[in-house]
Amino acid sequence: MSAHAAPPCPPAADVAVVGAGAAGLATAIFAAEAAPGARIVVLEGAAKIGAKMLVSGGGRCNVTNAVVTAADFNGVRPIVRNVLAAFGVDATIAWFTSLGVELKREETGKLFPAANTATAVVQALVARCLVLGVTLATGCRVAAVGRGDAPGMLRVHHAHGALDASRVVMATGGRSLPKTGSDGAGWEIVARLGHTVTAPHQALVPLVFTAGAPFAALAGISHPAELATFAHGKLLDRRAGSLLWTHAGVSGPVVLDASRHWVIAAAAGARPELRLSLFGDEDFAAVDRRLLALARERPKLSLARALAASVPERAAATLVRVGAALEPATPIARLTREERRRAVHALTALPLPVERPRGWNYAEVTAGGVPLAEIDQRTMASRVVPGLHLVGEMLDCDGRIGGFNFHWAWATGHVAGRAIARWLRAAGCKGD
Ligand SMILES: Cc1cc2nc3c(=O)[nH]c(=O)nc-3n(C[C@H](O)[C@H](O)[C@H](O)COP(=O)(O)OP(=O)(O)OC[C@H]3O[C@@H](n4cnc5c(N)ncnc54)[C@H](O)[C@@H]3O)c2cc1C
Repeated sequence: MSAHAAPPCPPAADVAVVGAGAAGLATAIFAAEAAPGARIVVLEGAAKIGAKMLVSGGGRCNVTNAVVTAADFNGVRPIVRNVLAAFGVDATIAWFTSLGVELKREETGKLFPAANTATAVVQALVARCLVLGVTLATGCRVAAVGRGDAPGMLRVHHAHGALDASRVVMATGGRSLPKTGSDGAGWEIVARLGHTVTAPHQALVPLVFTAGAPFAALAGISHPAELATFAHGKLLDRRAGSLLWTHAGVSGPVVLDASRHWVIAAAAGARPELRLSLFGDEDFAAVDRRLLALARERPKLSLARALAASVPERAAATLVRVGAALEPATPIARLTREERRRAVHALTALPLPVERPRGWNYAEVTAGGVPLAEIDQRTMASRVVPGLHLVGEMLDCDGRIGGFNFHWAWATGHVAGRAIARWLRAAGCKGD
């Protein structure tokens, strides 16, 4: 979204930010606020700014969460912790207020713009850039970054020429939703400069079942569930939350959060197993005891009715039918010990027939990217290329669902922007 005709990209600047997504815009704003007059150019490959933000959070942009800790991220925890310490939730809320965007907190802890639309966020970020004199050069896809002619300068090669800057910020995102412009090209650019790029994988992505999986009747139903991901018999991840059955497989917050573990293990050839339990806080033995007691107290009660008291009836019925080959209408007292145990197994540890993640067009975020060890967490500066900084999703850090990925974008942008401003001031940059 840009309300103005994109200015041409100038040949020189103090700071060049590659990518006008959440992290790139935040970096430019924080740098410009702390180094007034600095020449800051944001080069964006897409024709318009904000495509991904506009579709995020169901079009409402879940910008952060009431509680954000390093445990909400997959990444090197001490580094994540330090970045979050530099720009926490209160600072984020205050920052949005300063941009004119009031936030409201929902019951889940997610924070959204009070206006209930992502447009408010994109417009505020763009407006702030313009007020601060940041040049937003859209339609300006960057192909490479190299050395400039003058010592200490970097040269950004883009669709319309080249731009020399003393600081270059890579904010090109990951690979999710490539039609928005985030297609992983930024990693190729930094890899050519000597950075490592950990293989990117789809994360926060719905999972697709093998063809003909017998769960179609549940499509559209959601309920609380616990998911455990195993590979080679080892538990990789266990979490609870809301699960949504879809026509193709499963989705919903608990699936999206678990998906990265399944996807990464599958890519490593581990044949991971995703096991579903309808009884999150009760194990096999507890559920077995419960059914046994019910069989004594109310022998005529059907298996389906017995389960309905504590778990969603339709899901439970399908699980015992599919996973235990039992008729849910069977009175529980009639079940043999072996049948009862089969039913309990289907209800507490049913392997789901996952075939694959749904695809990059449905993945909300990317797992993988430039290792955090290759940046200085106090400045987001590259430890490989002097003058280069890296922010946002292109780093090897992905958050769970709930506003954490945007928080990472703002926080890394804050750390980089403020550090760059300090550097510009120390270097005596006065701008134009
Ligand atoms: C459907 C969807 C919903 C989401 N909802 C939420 C949510 O509600 N809350 C949340 O926290 N997270 C959400 N996310 C994740 C969140 O959007 C991302 O983690 C976040 O946008 C990452 O910000 P970024 O600036 O690092 O990268 P991006 O937002 O991907 O921005 C990168 C920018 O760089 C540009 N670019 C790429 N390559 C080049 C190049 N070579 N030259 C020039 N420009 C380039 C791209 O066009 C893009 O504008 C969602 C993601 C998706 C896909």
